[in-house]
Amino acid sequence: MRSRRVQRCSARQPHVVGIAVALCVTLAPMTSALAAPTTGALVTRAKSSKVQYRATAPVPAQEDLVPIYKKSAQVYGIDWTLLAAVDRYAQLTKSQADRATAPYYGFAFADPAWAGLANPNSHDVDAWSIRLFQGLGRDGNHDGLALPWDPADRVPVLAAWLSGGSSDEDERSAVWDLYQDPVAMDRIFHFAALFKRFGLNSQEHCFPVAKRYNYTVKHTFGAGRSYGGRRIHEGVDIFASYGTPVLACSAGYVELMGWNRFGGWRIGIRDTQNVYYYYAHLSSFAKGIKQGDLVQPGEVIGYVGSTGYGPPGTAGKFPPHLHFGMYRDTGRHEWAFSPSTSLAHWQRLPQHITQPPKSHKKTLS
Ligand SMILES: [Zn+2]
Repeated sequence: MRSRRVQRCSARQPHVVGIAVALCVTLAPMTSALAAPTTGALVTRAKSSKVQYRATAPVPAQEDLVPIYKKSAQVYGIDWTLLAAVDRYAQLTKSQADRATAPYYGFAFADPAWAGLANPNSHDVDAWSIRLFQGLGRDGNHDGLALPWDPADRVPVLAAWLSGGSSDEDERSAVWDLYQDPVAMDRIFHFAALFKRFGLNSQEHCFPVAKRYNYTVKHTFGAGRSYGGRRIHEGVDIFASYGTPVLACSAGYVELMGWNRFGGWRIGIRDTQNVYYYYAHLSSFAKGIKQGDLVQPGEVIGYVGSTGYGPPGTAGKFPPHLHFGMYRDTGRHEWAFSPSTSLAHWQRLPQHITQPPKSHKKTLS
């Protein structure tokens, strides 16, 4: 009788997927199945037969989820790096409030999406009734429960969502439905490409100018500036001769390239921690490099110059130097922070300088 009433959930429900999971999940009859805690701490209150989700357990490292990503990706015929990228983006952009309501790593389905829009219990974790109400929630590990915070349940559901079609276009539209934001799309697909090439946690870094050339670092983060009205100096200036190679500091992708009135020829690279590296006043870019390319630490991306402070091509209004800035993005705000500590650290590292490959592979097809 059960299975006959159950319909496959096929309808995409835009606007209902997002970050929102209630702290308290109330369950009536199924508490006995909750003996094994999952990601968080599940506390059984025997007398009231209620289960309360407590946000006390530490959020696990994403590496711990890799076996689940790989298994789910295999089952649903997608790339595991896409699952990891959606989770990474979700984690990096979680607000304080989201962290409290979804205190586990990665993407959180909104309650109504998980339980089903018509489900009177929006905190439902009963796999059977969720199915009945066409919710997305599933019981991935056969413990009788579909828990939105349990990676064994959550990740396969995410994989099923992302595999909702047969083409790349379907996959893109499935990712689009999660955030409905072009920035999220761009980051998620680039993160996936970076994970594929450099792994989940590429730690390698490189000082941004070739050290065998003469250079001087001026730590002037936060100082006033003379050009362009009242602005503060959001970076550090590294003085060096024209043509000194400028290097990628981190594995990342080229998010932006071109002319800016202040920065001249400038390039922006983002890594998988959502840190944005901004390089300005270049005399030229490395040959062949273009927006969307993946770069590795130590890869030449351009050359020191003195461009900027005017229309395209303006140069020589100040001594040649690399303006180097670092920005962190939470999904709501992006702010500059002082790169001095990182630079001091990277300055001591050996440099493995590489030229950009002849034909950079585009990450987005
Ligand atoms: Zn500067």
